[in-house]
Amino acid sequence: MTQLIYELDIKALTNLLKEWNEPAYRAKQIWQGLYQHLYDSPEQFTNIPKSLREQLAEHVTFLPFTVKIYQDSSDGFTRKTLFELPDKNLIEAVLMRYGDPADNPQITAAAPHSENLRGAKNRRTLCISTQAGCAMGCVFCATGQMGFKRHLSSGEIVAQVMYYARMLKDVNESVTNIVLMGMGEPFHNYDNTMAAIDRLNDADGYNFGARRFTISTVGLVPQIRRFADERRQVNLAISLHAADDESRVSMLPINKKYKIADVIDACRYYVAQTHRRITFEWALINGVNDSPEVAKKLASRLKGLMCHVNAIPLNPTTGYAGIATDRQRAILFKEVLEQAGIPCTIRMRRGIDIQAGCGQLAGSVVS
Ligand code: SAH
Ligand code: SF4
Repeated sequence: MTQLIYELDIKALTNLLKEWNEPAYRAKQIWQGLYQHLYDSPEQFTNIPKSLREQLAEHVTFLPFTVKIYQDSSDGFTRKTLFELPDKNLIEAVLMRYGDPADNPQITAAAPHSENLRGAKNRRTLCISTQAGCAMGCVFCATGQMGFKRHLSSGEIVAQVMYYARMLKDVNESVTNIVLMGMGEPFHNYDNTMAAIDRLNDADGYNFGARRFTISTVGLVPQIRRFADERRQVNLAISLHAADDESRVSMLPINKKYKIADVIDACRYYVAQTHRRITFEWALINGVNDSPEVAKKLASRLKGLMCHVNAIPLNPTTGYAGIATDRQRAILFKEVLEQAGIPCTIRMRRGIDIQAGCGQLAGSVVS
């Protein structure tokens, strides 16, 4: 039986090497090889003895998936990869490159309305999956439409990052931000998700700052509270999408269990515990949740909360008839919120031509 090396934290790696009668400092050498040099095969570890490289080759693997498809958006700034796991489940991860339009006419031409690109110099944001499929069944979401397959292990989550980290290293770049907004509900797979973040955060390893991660959740209240108690520096985003229960439950079935008021209470608790600003995500759907009245209701719900609303026009999916709000109406929505003192950004749709919305590529392959 071989084991995925990214499943191991430094302690487990040290124990494994102890079993092989190797000194503890070898664990550190391998850890650095994995997370600082981004090695992905035993031969690359030239600083350890050949016998140990052979042990690695025999007992551990470095790649838990194969690349089924990859696609680049027509503007060349988004790369989406669909990975196939050994059990044939599919997961996806998307890299989004941002530059400063002032410096880069190519970006301005490709995305003329992308006000939120300004000042975002050379960001390399990676969006990764935490589950194959998702159990939450949000009606407009391609992942929700395919149902739950299984949780990803911590190593499978880490491996998505390492895959892209190596790709960027080849062109002298690196990942600058990681968002857990791919397939799956990270708080439904809490322990593996946090273990993956901790592994990537390790100062002697990949050293990816906690504040550069963003977890997005559909609003699992007990986990929001647990996350608040752990006082992590990781950013938190909540998928709200509606300002009253009736509307929210028609889009997000989980709202039967956790009502908006309870979600927002948990968010207030989070801000009180961490003193960190929280983000609310809002997929703007024409005629469903994009009116000035809804914006007013939302603003009154969020009153006094240190927060920010990220509104993004709906990405079309085959299983849902709703369509995206147009730009004018989106701006009106933003203005109503801002007049009520709630900051709002309209995110542009990235990589829409490569189905870079959550779960969309996997969905199209499965069907
Ligand atoms: N399960 C988590 C994270 C993955 S989904 C969550 O739901 O938050 C990441 C974000 O994409 C969520 O805000 C989700 O509501 C949103 N999303 C899903 N499908 C979408 C679509 N078709 N158009 C726009 N946003 C969508
Ligand atoms: Fe799951 Fe998030 Fe999609 Fe809802 S939006 S089905 S929680 S991945």
